Amino acid sequence: MTEVIIFLGPPGAGKGTQAEKVSNKYDLAHISTGVMLRHHVKNETELGLKARNLLDNGLLVPDDLVTEMLLERLNENDAASVVLLDGYPRTLTQAESLERPENNLLIKKVIFFDIDQDELITRMLERGRSDDTEDSIQVRLEAYKEDTEPLLHYYEKKGLVKRVNGSGSVDSIFKSIENVLT
Ligand code: AMP
Repeated sequence: MTEVIIFLGPPGAGKGTQAEKVSNKYDLAHISTGVMLRHHVKNETELGLKARNLLDNGLLVPDDLVTEMLLERLNENDAASVVLLDGYPRTLTQAESLERPENNLLIKKVIFFDIDQDELITRMLERGRSDDTEDSIQVRLEAYKEDTEPLLHYYEKKGLVKRVNGSGSVDSIFKSIENVLT
C-alpha cells in the first residue's frame, strides 16, 4: 500500500510551494499533475498536444488522461511508500479513481488550504506563470468552485480533512502543515 497525502485548495493557494518544502523535509515523493502536464506541453508529447490549449485557458484536462498519467507516475520506485499529491484529485471522478482497490493506495490525510479569493488572484498575478492571465485565472477559479471544492465535503465526511490557514508567510503556513502532519 502506498500512503497518500493530498493537498487540496484553490489555485494560487501555495500548494506547490508548500509541497516542495514538505517533500524536502520528509521522505516523500511530491507529485504535481500541473508540473507533469506542463512538461508534456513543453516536450510536445501526444498528451502535451492534447492538453496545451486547456492549460492555457485554465480548463481542466479530461479525467481519464490525467488519471492515466498519474497512475503511471505512482508506479515509479520513489512512489512506493508515501506520496504527496498536489493538484490531484480535482474532480469527484478523480477522487474515486484513487480509491480503486487495484491501485493499492491509502489516503491518510487531506490538507485543505483555507484562503480567500482576493488573495489568490493577487498571488497568481504576481507568480506570472504563462497561464496566469486574468481570463485564465477566472476560469480556473470557476473550475475550482464547480468541480474541486465539492471534494472538501467528500473528504470531510470520511474524516480525512485537516485545515490550514493558507494566508500568511510561507514559513508560518509550513509550520501549520507540520502540525497537522505529525
Ligand atoms: P496547477 O499547476 O495545479 O495549477 O495546474 C495547472 C493546469 O493543469 C490546470 O489549470 C489544469 O489545466 C491542468 N491540471 C492539473 N492537474 C489537473 C487535474 N488533476 N485534472 C485536470 N486538469 C489538471
